[in-house]
Amino acid sequence: MENNYSYDTVKNNLSVIAANISEAYDKYRNDGSKVDIMAVTKTVPAEVVNWIFDWGMDLMGENRVQEFLSKKDLYSASTQSGKPPRIHFIGHLQTNKVKYIINEMDMIQSVDSIKLAHEIDRLAKANNKVMDILCEVNIGGEESKSGVAPDKLDELLEAAASMENIKVRGLMTIPPPADSDIFLGRMGELFNKLKDEKRENISMDILSMGMTHDYIDAVKYGSTLVRIGSGLFGARNYNK
Ligand SMILES: *Cc1c(COP(=O)(O)O)cnc(C)c1O
Repeated sequence: MENNYSYDTVKNNLSVIAANISEAYDKYRNDGSKVDIMAVTKTVPAEVVNWIFDWGMDLMGENRVQEFLSKKDLYSASTQSGKPPRIHFIGHLQTNKVKYIINEMDMIQSVDSIKLAHEIDRLAKANNKVMDILCEVNIGGEESKSGVAPDKLDELLEAAASMENIKVRGLMTIPPPADSDIFLGRMGELFNKLKDEKRENISMDILSMGMTHDYIDAVKYGSTLVRIGSGLFGARNYNK
């Protein structure tokens, strides 16, 4: 298939991103935790996504169920390490769509309601698996965004902790683009607080935050997983 993506450009973008992350990490953190880089693949053809697996990347994020289903058979079966790519769902997920991805995802990062958690738990059980999840927090309280309000997070965590076929691994957020550093800072504090509380059946080892425009600040405030789309593959063209 023809596409306008350049192998060398995408490869160079990744080196720059990795260098920026390691610089921010050395400067602000250096605490032994790691920062995973996720390639966000919406609108990117599968054969372009597959390039990243030649370079040691193994983590990709999917936003849309339909788009993922149309691309999944075209993705490489294994990465440089010989293992399959790790695929996380990061988009808004309707309860009635969980059934299409329950056996395809390594993690669902966008869990923002007890109802959705229940459905993931139910279908994970039916498929004899335990699904790793992150709770998505609407840290900026924006009406247009999904995610649980910070003051409703406890309720969601408590409910999820009691479900046997899901495992809470941490938190995910998309902060408001304006003042994102303030909200990244708040997320970092919230994550550290929950981590210190060591709640039963909840492990707080992943803080998924940081996108193309704010990943350097996100690393500064404790992100362990940055989700990069346009900064890696180039501006998205929805008509392509
Ligand atoms: C699209 C998307 C990203 C990546 O955004 P960029 O600005 O292109 O890096 C990250 N996270 C989520 C949830 C997204 O939908």
